Amino acid sequence: MHLIPAKCPDCGADIKIPDGSTQVKCEYCGGTILITDLLGSTSLMQNCMTLAYTAINEGNYKDAYQHFNRAIEIDMKNPYAIAGLAVCTGMVNKINDKPFNRMIELFERAFSYADGVKQQNLKKNASSEIVKVIKKNKSRISLDIELLNLSKLNNFLPQTDDKITKLKTAIQETVQKACEYDPENKEASSLLQEISSGSYFKSGNENMEIPGKTLSESQVKIQSEHTIDANKPTVKRQAAQKSGCSLMILIFILAISAGELFL
Ligand SMILES: [Zn+2]
Repeated sequence: MHLIPAKCPDCGADIKIPDGSTQVKCEYCGGTILITDLLGSTSLMQNCMTLAYTAINEGNYKDAYQHFNRAIEIDMKNPYAIAGLAVCTGMVNKINDKPFNRMIELFERAFSYADGVKQQNLKKNASSEIVKVIKKNKSRISLDIELLNLSKLNNFLPQTDDKITKLKTAIQETVQKACEYDPENKEASSLLQEISSGSYFKSGNENMEIPGKTLSESQVKIQSEHTIDANKPTVKRQAAQKSGCSLMILIFILAISAGELFL
């Protein structure tokens, strides 16, 4: 029997729906889920939603984004398709494109198409998905801030402080929403604390600050200690990206000072 991966609309757990069934019982929360409620009523819609959930299950948020988008084109009021698109938006978009503000907008649109218990459950699930998205993006965000700080040191970008403050505020407001959607979500409240204290934005492991070493060196060291073999290329790539950027900035400084000499 073919099983379709999906998310329980009541508790957010990963569930498997036997192909062709009309309803399924969630083994985590015991709720009965109507397939037409979760995946939509037409076969075209169900097809899009199935593809989207399958892609999410494989960690492929880019493909899932496209499938949810198509599902919304078919039924623009399906709250699960909109909530799915919200998660993908937070996972795949560039930090510069303000993905977190957009993610919140989409979640709130999803809530507006659900009411009562359905909306409450949707909010709870949104809350835990937001925490996942913000945690997953931690290294991307701290790298962005580190690069902004680096360009500030060299005076290349005016308004850098402004950019950093805006980014930090956006992250904080996003997690505040997660706390608001589900006040009992302890992970959300502790993440918010981490953000308010600033420790979230520090790259690497804040508990293992190595004095005398540069930030990127200690970060790469800590990351590689934590990383198993399969992930090593990521660490190397990040390190390469960093040194590549620093090198570019160095070349820039040299070019500018050389220009000044000749003028
Ligand atoms: Zn459930």
